[in-house]
Amino acid sequence: MEDKKKHYLETEIIHAGYYPDPLTRSISPPIYQTSTFGFESAEQGAALFTGKEKGFIYTRLGNPTIEALEKAVASLEKGYAALATSSGMAAVSTVYLTFLEKDAHMIGTAALYGSSRTVIETEFNRFGVTSDFVDTSNLEEIKKRIKKNTKLLYIESPANPTMAMTDIQACAEIAKQHGLILAVDNTFASPVLQNPLELGADVVIHSVTKFINGHTDVVGGIIISKTAELHQRLQKVLRLMGGTMDPHQAWLVLRGLRTLYLRVEKAQENAQKIANWLEQHPKVAWVNYPGLPSHPQYELMKKQMKGSGSMISFGLKGGYQAGLKLINNVRLCTLAVSLGGIETLIQHPASMTHSSVPKKEKEEAGITDDLIRLSVGCEAYEDLKADLEQALEQC
Ligand SMILES: *Cc1c(COP(=O)(O)O)cnc(C)c1O
Repeated sequence: MEDKKKHYLETEIIHAGYYPDPLTRSISPPIYQTSTFGFESAEQGAALFTGKEKGFIYTRLGNPTIEALEKAVASLEKGYAALATSSGMAAVSTVYLTFLEKDAHMIGTAALYGSSRTVIETEFNRFGVTSDFVDTSNLEEIKKRIKKNTKLLYIESPANPTMAMTDIQACAEIAKQHGLILAVDNTFASPVLQNPLELGADVVIHSVTKFINGHTDVVGGIIISKTAELHQRLQKVLRLMGGTMDPHQAWLVLRGLRTLYLRVEKAQENAQKIANWLEQHPKVAWVNYPGLPSHPQYELMKKQMKGSGSMISFGLKGGYQAGLKLINNVRLCTLAVSLGGIETLIQHPASMTHSSVPKKEKEEAGITDDLIRLSVGCEAYEDLKADLEQALEQC
């Protein structure tokens, strides 16, 4: 059924996975909204449980609608297989639970998604897990922190919300040398702009809540593994711990995924124009956007990404107070956390997404009080610019 010929990415996004449905040739994948699947006989039930026969047993262990999404994303990320999870954090936790053990140590990007860091420091610490969150864009910082019990190198690139980038290929070499698992949270780039497995990572994570679903109506996550061995380890933990996705959720995400290329392309075009414009604006102090030549890792972006994406962070000359005025005065941009949807969202990480990270650690990670994060959507650039312009006039 599946065409093995290599297609362009925009074609692959539309056809990847079971397309059409192999059973009925339905173009839209059927939603198998069931918790369990009947066995033909006692013998067949037993054979399914031992794995002698392939098939579905119970939805926490696998479901055709969920599998359709997993196959599609695994193919886009060039992985062996994928595991869909109930949320992005369920994906992150499953990776932690699989690759960390009692008294293990991990190294992570300092400007990590807030909860991905907090869960290590305030929950996994109960099991003796220790961590160092460092500026992973500086490879020396990573090498310096590796210990005998270091198991996992966990990076986010571009990082949230600083847009700092980490050299994934260089991290893969370090991980290989020291026997570490390299996991990359690829949420900000999406599979359209970056494929960490091709750069040597072992595991990739997405909060599909963001770009992959793209319509701000589902929470979900996915883990893509490079090898069968990694996939099986993760699958065992996910099935036991239960953070699996629901079939209806998977169907919505798959529907969103089919337009990922178009959305990323349009949002990126808008973001580049907005970043160029903001950088020249007299009230703007600084702009962090990987597509600006002023970004400290502009060259790295060109090396490891296919584009600079649609996430921007910036600060105003009037600092925190001016920033508050800005986010309170936008009308088209919506004041909300989350990102990667078709609509433009604006937020203040220090008091919102990263409020759980202690102040000193926030500052070390570059999440300053004046930082405003903009997730640029697919509206007309002129409308977005006009909205930001009128709000900036009031700052
Ligand atoms: C949102 C997000 C997560 C967590 O995902 P949820 O779907 O909210 O659980 C993890 N990493 C990044 C980079 C995110 O943006």
